[in-house]
Amino acid sequence: MQKIDSYDFKGKRAIIRVDFNVPLDENGQVTDDTRIRAAIPTIRKVLDGGGSVILMSHLGRPKKNNDMKYSLGQIVPTVEKLLGRPVIFVGDCMGEKAADEAAQLRPGEVMLLENLRFYAEEEGKPRGLADDASDEEKAAAKKAVKESQKKFVERLASYADCYINDAFGTAHRAHASTALIADRFPNDKMFGYIMENELKAVDRIIENPQRPFVAIIGGSKVSTKISILENLMNKVDSIIIGGGMTYTFSAAQGGKIGDSICEPDMFPTALEILKKAQERGVKLIFSPDALIADKFAEDADTRECPANEIPDGWMGLDIAEEGKKSFREHILGCKTILWNGPVGVFEMDKFATGSKVVAQAIADATANGAFSLVGGGDSVACVNKFGLADRISYVSTGGGALLEYIEGKELPGVAAIRK
Ligand code: AMP
Repeated sequence: MQKIDSYDFKGKRAIIRVDFNVPLDENGQVTDDTRIRAAIPTIRKVLDGGGSVILMSHLGRPKKNNDMKYSLGQIVPTVEKLLGRPVIFVGDCMGEKAADEAAQLRPGEVMLLENLRFYAEEEGKPRGLADDASDEEKAAAKKAVKESQKKFVERLASYADCYINDAFGTAHRAHASTALIADRFPNDKMFGYIMENELKAVDRIIENPQRPFVAIIGGSKVSTKISILENLMNKVDSIIIGGGMTYTFSAAQGGKIGDSICEPDMFPTALEILKKAQERGVKLIFSPDALIADKFAEDADTRECPANEIPDGWMGLDIAEEGKKSFREHILGCKTILWNGPVGVFEMDKFATGSKVVAQAIADATANGAFSLVGGGDSVACVNKFGLADRISYVSTGGGALLEYIEGKELPGVAAIRK
C-alpha cells in the first residue's frame, strides 16, 4: 500500500474513486457541494505533483444506462469552479471516447467519467430481470454480470497508472470502482485524504478512546441500530438512546407510548440489549420525558409528559426539558463522544430542539477537550442545520460505511487498499 503524501505522481494518470453523489435540484443544479469540496485536496495533490486525474463516481440510484436525470455531466460546472480548471467530461465509462481521452491526458488535466451506476457491472448485480424469472435465469444473469464486471474493471484500470480510493461513503460496498479495481494496481493503490482522515478519526475512537466514552444513538428504529448498539457495548462506558427507538424500549418494558413509532417484533431484542448493558456495566440513558404531538406535523398541538406515560392519540417526537438537561450534563462529563442519529424529528423545527441541545453539548464538550465524532447522514444534517459542524472534532462523510467500520466489519474498499 502506498501513501498519497509520498507517492510520486509525476507523469502518472491517477484514477480516483470519489463520492460525488451530491443532491441536485430539479434543474440539475448542485444544492450542496460539500462532497465535491471535500475531494479537492486529493485531486490537487495529484495535479500539483505533475500527474493527471480521471475521476469516477456514482450519482443516485439509476436503474439503467443513460437515465440523464443521474448524469454526472450536471455537476461539471461545480467541479470546475471548485477546482479552478476545466474538466473533460466524456459522457461514458467504457466507450472509445473515454479510452482516447484518458490516453491523451496531459499532466494537470482532469477528466470525469459518467455515472458508474449506469453500468450494472459497477455493483455486479443483474438488471432488468423479469419478476417471475426462474432461479436458473437469475443464476445465469448473475454469472453473466460477474463475467462482464471483470471486463469493466479491466477497462477502467486501463485508463490509469495508479488508483486512489477517496470515497469513504461507499467503502462498505464491494463494487467494481470501490474494491475490485484496486487489485489491478498491486503497487500503486492508496487512500485519498478523505479516506485517510476518516479512518484515523474512527480508529481513534475504537482503538484507544479517552474515557469516559459515550455514544449517542438516535434515529427512528431499533432494527437498523441493533448491531451498532451491541457492538458499542464492548467499547463505551455509556449509551444515550434517543429518537423513535426509545419507544420500542419503553413499550417492551410495559411503558405507555400512545401512537409513537414502535417495533413490537423488536421487544425481545430491546430487552436483551438492556440486560447486556447491565451485565457489562454500560450505562444506558433514556430521556425521562417526551415532547408529544397529536399528529406528525409541524402544526401539531404539543405538550410534555413522562416518556412512559404517553396518552393514546399522541406520539413522542422529541425529548423534553428533563431529557435535554440530563443528556447535556452527561455529554459534558465525557472525553470521547460518538453521535449517530437525531434524538427527535429534527426536520421539523418544533421537534428539533432536543437534537440541537445534543449538538450544542457535543460542541461544548469538544471545546473543553473531548474528541467528538459525528456520523450518519441525519446527524451530520443536524450539526449543519445548527451551524455547529466546525465545532465537532470530526464530521464523518460515511453513513453506512462508518457504522459498519465501528461495528468491526471489514470494509471491502478499505481492505482492497490495505491488503
Ligand atoms: P435513522 O435513519 O434511523 O438514523 O433515523 C433518522 C430519522 O429518525 C430522522 O428522519 C428523524 O426524523 C427520525 N426520528 C427521530 N425521532 C423520531 C421519533 N420520535 N419518531 C419518529 N421518527 C423519529
